[in-house]
Amino acid sequence: MRKFDGDTLLVATHNAGKLEEIAALLAPYKVSVVGAAEKGLSEPDETESTFVGNARIKAHAAAQATGLPALSDDSGLEIDALDRAPGVYTADWAETGVGRDFVMAMTRAYEELIAGSTSKPWRARFCCTLVLAWPDGHDEVFPGVINGQITWPMRGDQGHGYDPIFTPDGHDITFGEMDRWEKNKISHRADAFKRLVKGCFG
Ligand code: IMP
Repeated sequence: MRKFDGDTLLVATHNAGKLEEIAALLAPYKVSVVGAAEKGLSEPDETESTFVGNARIKAHAAAQATGLPALSDDSGLEIDALDRAPGVYTADWAETGVGRDFVMAMTRAYEELIAGSTSKPWRARFCCTLVLAWPDGHDEVFPGVINGQITWPMRGDQGHGYDPIFTPDGHDITFGEMDRWEKNKISHRADAFKRLVKGCFG
């Protein structure tokens, strides 16, 4: 396992929220964090059929373009009764052509579950894959997961994306009803981050 021994990490995201979350997580390790937008990077096409494949595309593109070690994340929701859809297409299900509509995406998931005569509980998980890539082409991969089930109707207005229809195991509220800090302690992203910090920043 290669350790991160630089002082600046490029975070391959244009999402200000993700950037802030990652900077806070890495603050104890004296790492200065720079976002993709700040470096004028474009977003590469995510052409792979796995989370790790797409995370690798983003991390390597950013490392090559900047000469800095780059961290990317790719995430999504897998619903067992839908053969793990939407999976890598989680964001695509919300695309309307003029922005993302997650109520539409969550409704599609529910309608496909009903149309397939599937039985409850509708087991599901959020997955996250973090990839830390270096300019010389080396990378380290860290998966994270949170298991749970699909809840319908949608509940809660906290969080983002598919949070209102996901109830994590061991809880009786959805991510949409959960305090942001509580969610960030148990989420798929937190799980992957624990592995990243242990592997490369410990
Ligand atoms: P990405 O940014 O390409 O990785 O897309 C991930 C997709 O999964 C987006 O549509 C997100 O809304 C969704 N997603 C990822 N993590 C979460 C989460 O914690 N809650 C709700 N939706 C999520």
